[in-house]
Amino acid sequence: MEDTIFDKILRREIPAKIAYEDDHVLAFHDLHPQAPVHVLVIPKKKQPGIQAFSGASSEDIGAYMVAVAKVATHLGLDAAGYRVVFNQGKYGQQTVAYVHAHILGGRQMEWPPG
Ligand code: AMP
Repeated sequence: MEDTIFDKILRREIPAKIAYEDDHVLAFHDLHPQAPVHVLVIPKKKQPGIQAFSGASSEDIGAYMVAVAKVATHLGLDAAGYRVVFNQGKYGQQTVAYVHAHILGGRQMEWPPG
């Protein structure tokens, strides 16, 4: 797997504004926020994208998804709601090959997405 900017953030080789960390995940604020709250959540057990979850253990995926929900709670987003986005591959406009959940909140979202 290629070494990505998110690997470097996890290893604390480059700075990031950390929002939350536990045994399973690291969450940090997006450098180019698309909403008043825009936080990325990565699992410490690396996968290149959500497509790779088809080969991952249900336990690891479950722990990751529970942590994503905890991060949203930690960010104070539960009452108003929020959006969670995974971009996958070229058409999904994924730019970093380390799976990451975008948590977007703090404003009304629209549908369909662009
Ligand atoms: P994606 O297009 O789904 O792969 O999302 C990658 C996200 O990473 C984008 O929203 C970028 O703004 C964000 N990003 C890129 N570099 C950094 C960084 N050093 N720190 C925080 N967010 C970053």
